[in-house]
Amino acid sequence: MSINYQQILNEIVEETQYLTGKGKVADYIPELAKVSPNQFGIFLQMMDGSSYHVGAAHTQFAIQSISKVFSLSLAVSLLGEKVWERVDVEPSGTAFNSLLQLEYEKGIPRNPFINAGALVVIDMLISELKKPKEDLMDYIRMLAGKNEVHINKKVAHSEKQHGFRNAAVANLLKDFGNIHNKVEDVLDLYFDMCSIEMNCAELSQTFKMFANHGVLPGTEKQILTRSQTKRQNALMQSCGFYDESGEFTFTVGLPGKSGVGGGIVALFPEQFTITVWSPLLNEKGNSIKGMKALELFTTKSELSLF
Ligand code: GLU
Repeated sequence: MSINYQQILNEIVEETQYLTGKGKVADYIPELAKVSPNQFGIFLQMMDGSSYHVGAAHTQFAIQSISKVFSLSLAVSLLGEKVWERVDVEPSGTAFNSLLQLEYEKGIPRNPFINAGALVVIDMLISELKKPKEDLMDYIRMLAGKNEVHINKKVAHSEKQHGFRNAAVANLLKDFGNIHNKVEDVLDLYFDMCSIEMNCAELSQTFKMFANHGVLPGTEKQILTRSQTKRQNALMQSCGFYDESGEFTFTVGLPGKSGVGGGIVALFPEQFTITVWSPLLNEKGNSIKGMKALELFTTKSELSLF
């Protein structure tokens, strides 16, 4: 029986109406607080090339922590297993920017998707790449299959002006010897990466590699090995939603990654990638409408890993 995906997306818009206006935009980064809060878009990209969308699926937004999937993927492709000597693979069970846990665990971040872990991954990239920022951007452009991926300079500036907690995390990591480069350089690239702007359609395209066992779709190019891709998706499943990864697995049942810009990308290997965007967040930092939309999607389509 074929599934009417467009109808499912249309129904999701109707059935999440009641959540309009609920939640808060991420105002700890002042520039993010300027976004118009009630926007909502979904882009479903099937691995056979067909796609479906509703709402603001082509509006750009800051991808924030979703970018951590790309930096990790590049680090793993460059360093392989060595990455795991400096970052762990456990759900954090605490806030994504916790200092307490890092102190307690002697500078080894719980996973690469909390801020401490992402900062260590960025440090690895700075050590490994000739032109870290350009090379990272080029890597993301390659995954996206386009040349126009760019950084929102206003958001990056705003983060740099207000990133006191991230600076504290980076300094603590440095003190434990788990940052090898200059703290300023690590923070700078981290904030730039978080400020990359994409839309739902572009993110769904960019994540196809992870749903395609590491092969860049439409090419023979193996970006990650099958095993590395499996691990990347496993980490998204167990650690992709701050301190709400269990809830996301429970309600949606797909690996994915959220960001405080209100975006969420999720995927089903060999089947599809899907991106939702709605800027109003719950207290854990995840998009309220986005979470509900994905729950409805896997329930209605009966396409979940579990
Ligand atoms: N740039 C944000 C921060 O470091 C990323 C937060 C996020 O999306 O989780 O606070």
